Amino acid sequence: MRRWNGWADESRHPTLPPSALRLIEAELGPGRPTSDAVLADVVAAVPASRLQPNSLISLDPEDRVRHATGQSLPDWIALRSGRLRSVPDGVARPATNDDVRALLAWAGSSGAKVVPYGGGTSVVGGIGGAGWGNSRHPTTHQPILTIALERLARLRTLNERSGLATFGAGTTGPDLEEALRPHGLTLGHFPQSFERSTLGGWVVTRSAGQQSLGFGRIEALFAGGRVEAPAGTFELPPHPASAAGPDLRQLVLGSEGRLGVLTEATVRVVPRPAREAFPAWFLPDWSHAIDAGRAIGRAGLPLSMIRVLTPLETATLLALAGESRSMGLLRRYLGFRKMGPETSLLLVGASGTDRLVEAAVREVGPLVRREGGVAVGGSIGRRWIANRFRSADLRDALWEAGYALDTLETAIDWSRLPALAAAVERALSAGLEDLGERVLAFSHLSHVYPSGSSLYTTYAFRSTADPDETLARWRRLKGAASRAIVDAGGTITHQHGVGRDHAEYLVAEKGELGMAVLADLAHRFDPDGIMNPGVLLRGEP
Ligand SMILES: Cc1cc2nc3c(=O)[nH]c(=O)nc-3n(C[C@H](O)[C@H](O)[C@H](O)COP(=O)(O)OP(=O)(O)OC[C@H]3O[C@@H](n4cnc5c(N)ncnc54)[C@H](O)[C@@H]3O)c2cc1C
Repeated sequence: MRRWNGWADESRHPTLPPSALRLIEAELGPGRPTSDAVLADVVAAVPASRLQPNSLISLDPEDRVRHATGQSLPDWIALRSGRLRSVPDGVARPATNDDVRALLAWAGSSGAKVVPYGGGTSVVGGIGGAGWGNSRHPTTHQPILTIALERLARLRTLNERSGLATFGAGTTGPDLEEALRPHGLTLGHFPQSFERSTLGGWVVTRSAGQQSLGFGRIEALFAGGRVEAPAGTFELPPHPASAAGPDLRQLVLGSEGRLGVLTEATVRVVPRPAREAFPAWFLPDWSHAIDAGRAIGRAGLPLSMIRVLTPLETATLLALAGESRSMGLLRRYLGFRKMGPETSLLLVGASGTDRLVEAAVREVGPLVRREGGVAVGGSIGRRWIANRFRSADLRDALWEAGYALDTLETAIDWSRLPALAAAVERALSAGLEDLGERVLAFSHLSHVYPSGSSLYTTYAFRSTADPDETLARWRRLKGAASRAIVDAGGTITHQHGVGRDHAEYLVAEKGELGMAVLADLAHRFDPDGIMNPGVLLRGEP
């Protein structure tokens, strides 16, 4: 089970390799670990529920605490300090569409607000409801009902001939792939949060899996589904294609629980690849690495992934890999090939038949060599694929060592990418200068498109004994980076969604008319405004 106040499983105790700890201490100074609140104390302080007992709803205080937040850094600060000034008043676990409809009707008549809960992995304030006692969540006096989707979670129908599988929206990544495996099929959607996030969450946040280049983003995989909204049931048939007016699936994709509850989704599934390969190259510097990534992205090769790391992220990845003999050999080899501290790692993924994988990888070689790239074989890629879901556990280890870690992401066209990347890292690195605090910021391109790329930035800073001060520092950094993104013309989010944390920046890309259309849409599906207030649309509690 996921620990109540972090990411890693309760049974796992992630630690930082000494080489990684040395790097972070050298960059930020020694960490000052803070002591965590105890679950029993937090549960004991939960106020009485404002909801009337109902057979479908748990009022258990611990249940309510465990569904109180997502995984954003403000959520973490609240959990670790135990300063949950508000928790949902109840947690419902509907097992059928009828249950969901009944719960929505009941919430409407009880004056409760509704928060759908998939895996609770939102990193943008998508979970948390109104009523939090900080300025991100102005107080509301209405009760909050969380609808957890965990019982709407299994394979409902599989149409093998058409490659269409219908799942309950609360199905997690592992359960979904496990149900498809005996049929030799896969969805191929592997966000880093794969083990804990759900199909419904992926759809309503427009999620991108790590191999979306080959398998497609969730927009391409989501063929249809069913939304239970306060105004009625909204069904989307899974046509292979249609010219029948605007594509209404797009209303659900990215709707973040504002329209209703997505209860089931039909997705396009494909045969499991016979083989996967993740070869790596080192480039002399970030600029050559971007050009190599761009050339590969524009070549239209049948690859499933292209990742390009800045020199600092490359150095951090190598530090996290520890001091094994193979890492020693790799460092010596890079030295021999004159790859200095500015070297950038480029990793590609290819999935398919043996012949397809070999051909795709063969085509990449000349494009990378043209930029001065050096091939280092498959061991880095194998290590990356083996740890791809585990590396997020290090956030727990860092917190316990006294460091706060957060990530943010955007996308932009190739011509403006280098300037945007520099602006974001500059905004973060200098963000706490006046406090005499340093910030470690590094980036990678994780989703490459013909016309541009996503940019994913990780930043770390020292946490403080006062959670409000840590939160204030996060707010400054997040604000500075978000403004840098918007000013440079990037999207405020490539994959994490809008939640509460990005809502004020959405107007920069949707415009006032676009925002009004979204508000009208929410009103049409949810006339009394009970669904997820504060998420996606700004200016609300
Ligand atoms: C360590 C880590 C790594 C991550 N890596 C990635 C990544 O690689 N790619 C990526 O795209 N994202 C990533 N994320 C972000 C997050 O996992 C995604 O946004 C994911 O799609 C959320 O799914 P969930 O089921 O956890 O949704 P939740 O967090 O439960 O909910 C997200 C939002 O959608 C609403 N919602 C959830 N389910 C429904 C439903 N059935 N109907 C209506 N509304 C609903 C919620 O109210 C909330 O506003 C990562 C997060 C973490 C913590």
